[in-house]
Amino acid sequence: MTAVSAIVECPQHPGTETALRCSRCETPICPRCLVQTPVGARCRSCARIVRSPIYTLTLSGYVRAGLACAVGGVVMGLIWGAILLPISFGFVGIFIGAGLAYAFTRVLDLATGRKRGPVVVTFAIAGICLAWATQLLFVPFDVARFGLLAVAVGAYLAYQNLRAV
Ligand SMILES: [Zn+2]
Ligand SMILES: [Zn+2]
Repeated sequence: MTAVSAIVECPQHPGTETALRCSRCETPICPRCLVQTPVGARCRSCARIVRSPIYTLTLSGYVRAGLACAVGGVVMGLIWGAILLPISFGFVGIFIGAGLAYAFTRVLDLATGRKRGPVVVTFAIAGICLAWATQLLFVPFDVARFGLLAVAVGAYLAYQNLRAV
């Protein structure tokens, strides 16, 4: 394996020299062609592939993700409030947050067909917040506020899981 990045002329812009190559198809790309994507610098045609289909939700994808988060948030909030609440204080909140992040990653994988990106992250975080709001049915805010640690941990982990491929 030799990692020589030869300086070549950009095929799109004759006269512009570059040593950069598209991370997918290896086509030389100059700064004018380069498109930054979550998976590295790519040429324009490969950047389009990145944008769809993994990072784009169809309308039905939005509906399914919304429903999944609404139902999942309420169900997980009920479990949290009714069963897990007595142990959801202090550091245990970290585990509950991790559990919520894992659950929403799975739920959204099913609902969207393993889509990734900021939209999916937003749905997951909305679902986690809804789970927290649902457990407010069981406990006063003074107690429920301890659960905000779980929400923060869950939101962070969901972001890590779902932001990119
Ligand atoms: Zn390319
Ligand atoms: Zn170019």
